[in-house]
Amino acid sequence: MKLQQKVCIVTGAASGIGKEIALTYAREGGRVVIADINLQPAQAVADAITASGGTAMAVAMDVTSESEVDAAVAKVVAAYGGVDVLVSNAGVQIVYPVEEFPFAEWKKMLAIHLDGAFLTTKACLPHMKASGRGGSIIYMGSVHSKEASMLKAPYVTAKHGLIGLCKTVAKEGGQHGIRANVICPGFVRTPLVEKQIPEQAQALGISEADVISKVMLKETVDGEFTTLQDVAEVALLFAGFESNALTGQSLVVSHGWFMQ
Ligand code: NAD
Repeated sequence: MKLQQKVCIVTGAASGIGKEIALTYAREGGRVVIADINLQPAQAVADAITASGGTAMAVAMDVTSESEVDAAVAKVVAAYGGVDVLVSNAGVQIVYPVEEFPFAEWKKMLAIHLDGAFLTTKACLPHMKASGRGGSIIYMGSVHSKEASMLKAPYVTAKHGLIGLCKTVAKEGGQHGIRANVICPGFVRTPLVEKQIPEQAQALGISEADVISKVMLKETVDGEFTTLQDVAEVALLFAGFESNALTGQSLVVSHGWFMQ
């Protein structure tokens, strides 16, 4: 097992990609924290892990609230004694053309994706330093950390921004064995993406099938969605990689949609 006894906080782990990462980490022996704004589904994920013999706890955390983030991390440290892995994954999608984007929605997007990554990183770093074991911080970027799509200005802005945060944390964390990396998935069929299909069809005036084949998967090498397992495997690689050789990187997992 690659994560034996490691304490792994995964934000947005009540659903989609975060949930799959949490299940994968638990199978690898990690003590997994399901941190989400929605406590009930988070608790259900933790209960499922516990029922199958793993170790997990759920914590309520709105990643945009410094007090909630700090309180949740303190609860984790009280229960498990430290933090070894942080996956900053919580995210939402809101789409409008730039000139129609409500300012409040723009700010909400940046708060969830960027403030959330900053606040969770800030709360976990002291514990990673104090343990003397270092740690791994993983940001859920996107192909939109490298590329743009229409209608997604704050998402693309925030996902690009995560790469800057990652590189800074990698530099500041290096001497403490704290690594930081970004995963950049292509489209994965989660609730976040299912919601976008009809929205984009309406905004672009095309069918839902065309949104999938001509917008979402157009640039892939094979017309395939990236899977939850594909992303979780990369999250396991970054979490289990024990040296600073792999830090400050962003890895695109997108069926070739974006090639570095
Ligand atoms: P999802 O909607 O299935 O899950 C997102 C989770 O985040 C939910 O459980 C939700 O409750 C939680 N969340 C939302 N706001 C929160 C907040 N303020 N505080 C704490 N939790 C909050 O979405 P997903 O597709 O699994 O997305 C997860 C991450 O992956 C996001 O950062 C997203 O941008 C990124 N991503 C997704 C795709 C994709 O195609 N699905 C591709 C690239 C990147």
